[in-house]
Amino acid sequence: MNGTTQALTIAGFDGGGGAGMQADLKTFQERFVFGTSVLTALPIQNTKGVTNVFDLPMDAIEEQLVSIKDDFRISAVKTGMLFTAEITALVAEFLRTADFGPLVVDPVMIAKSGHALLKDSAVQAVKEELLPLAYVVTPNVPEAEVLTGRTITTKEEMIKAGREIQQMGAKNVVVKGGHHLEGINSEDMLLLENGQVEWLFGKRIDTKNTHGTGCTFSACITAELAKGYSVFEAVTTAKAYIQAAIEDGLSVGNGNGPTNHWA
Ligand code: PLP
Repeated sequence: MNGTTQALTIAGFDGGGGAGMQADLKTFQERFVFGTSVLTALPIQNTKGVTNVFDLPMDAIEEQLVSIKDDFRISAVKTGMLFTAEITALVAEFLRTADFGPLVVDPVMIAKSGHALLKDSAVQAVKEELLPLAYVVTPNVPEAEVLTGRTITTKEEMIKAGREIQQMGAKNVVVKGGHHLEGINSEDMLLLENGQVEWLFGKRIDTKNTHGTGCTFSACITAELAKGYSVFEAVTTAKAYIQAAIEDGLSVGNGNGPTNHWA
C-alpha cells in the first residue's frame, strides 16, 4: 500500500515494551501510521528500569538508515535515545539530506530509573547538530535546563528557556511541565515558530504507570505531522492522547507501567 502514511523512529530499545522504539512503533500504529525504525543502542530494561546499555557498531546504525531511505517514503521522523555524540552526529548528517519530512527531536537524557540515555559529552552535539534540523523539539523541564543551563521553576522561565532553545535552531519548542513543576495541573508550553506561546493544560494524574510517557508523546506528534496536520494540531492531539494514555496506564511488571498502549 504505497499510499499509506509512513513514519520513522530513530531510537533506543526497550524489550519491556514501554518506552523507546517499542513505544514509538505502538504509538504510530495507534495513530494509523505505518512505523519503521532504526535502532541506536541496546539498553537492557524492563518496567523496573535500565540495568545496562550495549553499543551498536556505527556501521550498523548507518546501514539501517540507508536501508530505510532505500525503500520507504517517510513523511515524518523522530529521534529518541541517541546515547553518544558520535551517534548524534551521524544521525544529524544523514537527516540533513534524507528528505524524511519534519523532524521531531525528543532530547532524551536520563531514564526515570536514573540510567543515562545520552552521555553528557553528547549534549553539545544535540544542540549544535540536531536542533538546527528540528521542526519540533520536546524537552521536559530537566532536559530544557540542561540544554539552556537555566534553572526553571516558573512558567516565565519555561518560556525563556523555550526561546533560547529556539535560538539554537529548533523551529517549534514544547517544554513539558509534566510532573516536574508544582501545581494541580500539568502544563506544557508550546512556543511556535512565529514566537507565539500556547499553553497546553492537562490534569495531573497520580499514577506510577508513566514509563515511556515522553516517547509516546513525541511519537504521537510525529504521527500527526506525518499525516499532514499542523504543529499546533499535532501537539494538542498528542497532549490529549498522552493524558488519556496515562489515565489508562497499564500495570504490567513490578515497576512503572507503560503509557504506550491504546488511549
Ligand atoms: N528507554 C529508552 C530507550 C528511551 O528512549 C526512553 C525515553 O525517554 C526511556 C527508556 C525512558 O523511560 P522512562 O519514561 O521510564 O523514563
